[in-house]
Amino acid sequence: MIISTGTASGKSLAYLTPAIASCLDGGTVLYLTPTKALAADQLRGIRDLRITQVRAACFDGDTPYEERTWVRKHANYILTNPDMLHRGILPRHAQWSAFFRRLSLVVVDECHGYRGVFGSHVAQILRRLRRVCARYGTQPTFLLASATASEPGTFARRLTGLEMAEVTTDASPKGSTTVALWEPPLTELRGEGGAPVRRTATAEAADLLADLVLADVRTLAFVRSRRGAETVALTARAKLADVAFSLSTHPSTVTLHPNPASSAATHPNSGLAPSDQPDDGDPLSDPSGAAEASANQLGAGSSESDHPHSGLADFGESGAGEPHSGEREPLVEVGEPLSGVGGAASPQGEAGSAWALPEGSDLPDKVAAYRAGYLAEDRRVLEKALRSGTLMGLATTNALELGVDVSGLDAVLIAGWPGTRASLWQQAGRAGRDGQDALAVLIARDDPLDTYLVHHPEALFGQPVEAIVLDPDNPYVLGPHLCAAAAEIPLTEDDLPTFGNAAAAVLDTLVTDGLLRRRPAGWFWTRRERATDLADIRGGGGAPIQVVESSTGRLLGSVDEPSAHTMVHTGAVYIHQGETFLVELLDLEAGVALVSSAQPDYSTFARDITDISVLSTLRSHALGPGTLHFGEVEVTRQVVSYLKRRLQSGETLGDEPLDLPPRTLRTRAVWWTLPASEVAALAEDGFDLGGAAHAAEHAAIGLLPLFATCDRWDIGGVSTELHADTGLLTVFVYDGHEGGAGFAERGYARATDWLTATRQAIASCECERGCPSCIQSPKCGNGNEPLDKRGALRLLATLLDP
Ligand SMILES: [Zn+2]
Ligand SMILES: [Zn+2]
Repeated sequence: MIISTGTASGKSLAYLTPAIASCLDGGTVLYLTPTKALAADQLRGIRDLRITQVRAACFDGDTPYEERTWVRKHANYILTNPDMLHRGILPRHAQWSAFFRRLSLVVVDECHGYRGVFGSHVAQILRRLRRVCARYGTQPTFLLASATASEPGTFARRLTGLEMAEVTTDASPKGSTTVALWEPPLTELRGEGGAPVRRTATAEAADLLADLVLADVRTLAFVRSRRGAETVALTARAKLADVAFSLSTHPSTVTLHPNPASSAATHPNSGLAPSDQPDDGDPLSDPSGAAEASANQLGAGSSESDHPHSGLADFGESGAGEPHSGEREPLVEVGEPLSGVGGAASPQGEAGSAWALPEGSDLPDKVAAYRAGYLAEDRRVLEKALRSGTLMGLATTNALELGVDVSGLDAVLIAGWPGTRASLWQQAGRAGRDGQDALAVLIARDDPLDTYLVHHPEALFGQPVEAIVLDPDNPYVLGPHLCAAAAEIPLTEDDLPTFGNAAAAVLDTLVTDGLLRRRPAGWFWTRRERATDLADIRGGGGAPIQVVESSTGRLLGSVDEPSAHTMVHTGAVYIHQGETFLVELLDLEAGVALVSSAQPDYSTFARDITDISVLSTLRSHALGPGTLHFGEVEVTRQVVSYLKRRLQSGETLGDEPLDLPPRTLRTRAVWWTLPASEVAALAEDGFDLGGAAHAAEHAAIGLLPLFATCDRWDIGGVSTELHADTGLLTVFVYDGHEGGAGFAERGYARATDWLTATRQAIASCECERGCPSCIQSPKCGNGNEPLDKRGALRLLATLLDP
């Protein structure tokens, strides 16, 4: 069964009840979640119930080795993640035989996270799990919990390979959420090619976070990158430190926002966009209750809401002075600063979120950053502080989106489009638990899709959420799992239906490639290495890179290998817990990035160059006078340089070369070509052909995520005035995953809508010759040269001409 309802609708209770009943009946339960943090949270909840017959334990990368044997032998409620199931539990199923023999229930929580390539891997891991269970004579019930999605039953069938019932009615009480769409203003600064620079989403988010914390509004800020989250926390803390200082000198004259442009009341483009959609009780169109909005409650949940003016941007005259200390409990000691990491919440902090002015010297400590890459103990400290109210503001990557139980939030800031409407409502749904009203603000980044969305609220409200896309039959995914399955228990003909229609053909290839051996009894894994090493389920590839402080040898964290090229290349700015580091050296062979503490006033963006060749064309049809294709391609990508941008302003400071090896992948692409006659007409009218194609490519990459469930960094593009394989002006957009992930295919299927939106996004940007909100790309390996904005509009108009 799959339960697919909004945030905080009681899904946990719906699976916890049968899970505990299973334990009481002598069975065992396997609970799967995408993140360790969520498993830890669930464990806490189960232990709080104090049911002695339920022996719950986490079994994941954080579990100490000396505890693992105890967990295997004695626990009857195991909380783990797909990675550990894949690498640690299934390959050693014999050691878990007692557990598997009694396994009656498998809970797959937050399963909407299992999409794209990662989801396809998880689908195969669940098939391996079912097969191992069958070996021990059990057929456990699968109970899936998901955020709202379109067609959850279909998704659940693809994920588990089983027939699934669906539960989608959400009757939980919901307050109303005010949703604001917020476009930061253009600044006087000039970026690449003289383009105007918009105020950054992180700068706006940091201002809003500081404002909200000051107003005692418990706020979560979602930021796309871990680096961005840390910048937001750092900036908000600095602002709060200024406030604390001002309060200590001039207690009643603090104005946090010198810049009126970021106020909701005066900003022309950040108009509030309440939903026009009534609550019709249809969970598909109203995923979390977040769409039910009222426009005049910006101060939701805070004592500032009775201010006559918009409480968001201006707490100056009346907000931050004595009335606070009168209304609130006395100042409590909130422990050491969290940036010191050791700063566990003090016991008094558990008493509530009390703080008082004017001695607000600990104000900055009410804000911190959270991300998945932190070491376990760092994560626990932050989670605990937020629950206790010691923390009022937390900036996070979407690590928290995957269900860590943070209750009682009043506001959510979303810095940059999170990729899907489902994610947007999921994140917005974090605010306003227990039926309270709440605030959610989507802050646009300097990006064509974000620009499009804040100008087209109809693309967000009144639209169904996306279906969850995955493709378990992708041979690049299926192959490694067939090897892992054969290593667990040799495969027989009877197993083929479990692994789907593509299994037989893929097995033949594995035998030909010498990975499996065919014997009369079936298919065998006979190699010495571990079969599970073939499947890199999070799509990374290679061992993670350790980030080490060179002066002390301290391990700060780890980064997966492909991300290392873009995140910790030599010269990169790397931020850990609000501390800023410069990468002195990335040594890929040693698997280490050496960093040192530094205070640069810029951030860095890796840029890559790409070559593409067509391997085969699978489908094509006419598109205006041109042709649209879908097929297989080989892509060679190399990070070649990095761009430096001033931290707060976004101003470009320079482009530094890098020497990193290229990475090759075989994948799928959608591409369009324009015949020579049309190209000649464009040239005659004085357009820069290469610049027009390049600009259209950048914007098209930016908009595809609206039509395929992916993000901008999952896809790439190449454009050229004359491509060797097509002999024509060609623009390619490809899946950034080995074997493809279905994104380019969606682009092919929705090409007219996609390119129409691309054209509208370019046209609606008020810049003259192109900027990061329309046709510039931060990861362009050619330094955004050449680009022709008017040429791109004309090119797209030509293609879309019926
Ligand atoms: Zn622009
Ligand atoms: Zn480019």
